[in-house]
Amino acid sequence: MTSLLVKNTTLLVTMDADRREIPDGGLFIQGGFIRQVGLTAELPQEADETLDLQGCILLPGLINTHHHFYQTLTRAVPAAQDANLFNWLKTLYPIWACMRPEDIRISSQTALAELALSGCTTASDHLYLFPNGSSLDDEIQAAQELGVRLHASRGSMSLGESKGGLPPDSVVESEDFILKDSQRLIEQYHDPNPGAMVQIVLAPCSPFSVTGELMRQSASLAREYGVQLHTHLAETKDEEVFCQQLFGHRPVAYMELLNWIGPDVWFAHSVHVNQDEMRLYSQTGCGVAHCPSSNMRLASGIAPVMDMLRLGVKVGLGVDGSASNDGSHLLGEARQAMLVARVRAGLEGASLSNESAPPLMTARQALEIATLGSASVLGRADLGSLEPGKCADFIAIRLDRLGYAGALHDPVAALVFCAPVQADFTIVGGKFVVKDGQLVTLDLPRLVEQHNRAAKRLLGNW
Ligand SMILES: [Zn+2]
Repeated sequence: MTSLLVKNTTLLVTMDADRREIPDGGLFIQGGFIRQVGLTAELPQEADETLDLQGCILLPGLINTHHHFYQTLTRAVPAAQDANLFNWLKTLYPIWACMRPEDIRISSQTALAELALSGCTTASDHLYLFPNGSSLDDEIQAAQELGVRLHASRGSMSLGESKGGLPPDSVVESEDFILKDSQRLIEQYHDPNPGAMVQIVLAPCSPFSVTGELMRQSASLAREYGVQLHTHLAETKDEEVFCQQLFGHRPVAYMELLNWIGPDVWFAHSVHVNQDEMRLYSQTGCGVAHCPSSNMRLASGIAPVMDMLRLGVKVGLGVDGSASNDGSHLLGEARQAMLVARVRAGLEGASLSNESAPPLMTARQALEIATLGSASVLGRADLGSLEPGKCADFIAIRLDRLGYAGALHDPVAALVFCAPVQADFTIVGGKFVVKDGQLVTLDLPRLVEQHNRAAKRLLGNW
């Protein structure tokens, strides 16, 4: 087994049960898993490879719990810049309908490259459009080439405009095919073991784009195979009204009816949930992918994340699709989570001079959501912290940079309070994805050129 010794970090953030932060810390890694964590002086001194991280802070790799990689092709589209969710979708659906398999592959590489450079080691993606022969295989291949762990969600839309749904009929699929393809993908790719590089998730897009029957059947198929379930839920007020009018229930109650509540389910957004609904999440182990930038971009609202944490809800972080963010900077997203939680606290009357006011989200809480929280949302006990037996997924950031000047009395807080930076090292399963600030597994200038060409073609068709 290949071994890697990581030594001499200025500070190593473990996120272990005691939340230890170890000055002059290091890791000893074998076969892609962590064997020892501690002071550099206490680790084995010999390994196949040694990485000296003097001057760096090291922390667990960040984990993204919600994305739509393909949307990197449609960032900042003029007609969708200032629209709310439903109008934004109606503008973009016809453009997305022109995508081809190579567009899925290129856009997945772009999103994953951006994520990896921002400190992400595991990403979940939700692909729910398969036009012109595209398939989930295209993005799985991209992730395998790049070396980032992927939770690939087989999304779906079956309720077209003619049946009262939101998407045009041209981008929906038959429910029979959706279920058959879901089963094929699970059997071909899903790895349930610790250290898995690819897991499959079943993910009908949202209550307003599939039938209740497809939701039910997806849940029973997922449970037959032990894979997770994911969808968008309670994102906007419009959705709440839509669900009440069409189904006679609020979104969470509708999910309960469809057997879509449990520890194997996580919902993107959950902005518009009440105390009872959050309590239900907590009691049943339902997870939430918090996507603060997207919620601000689409004027959806501010998710009650501090309430969720207080009630013991599993909360992870997501950058969401690049047409509603429009960037995949996961460390930057942790900063957004902290800041917008403070906006909400302010709106609820919290003030720093009021000692009985609820506490503000801290930088360390934001990082915990992006690591431990996201790992628990994805059902990954082998990720999220740096402890013996866990995957060797970590990032390191140099501290002698301009943006951190004057903040080195608390380098952990600097990561979140100061302007978001790129990772100098991103390591997944003991293998380098980013080294000295450069991606090692792909030719970035060539990818950017290919990506811009693909985006121009799509927008040209439109
Ligand atoms: Zn989304």
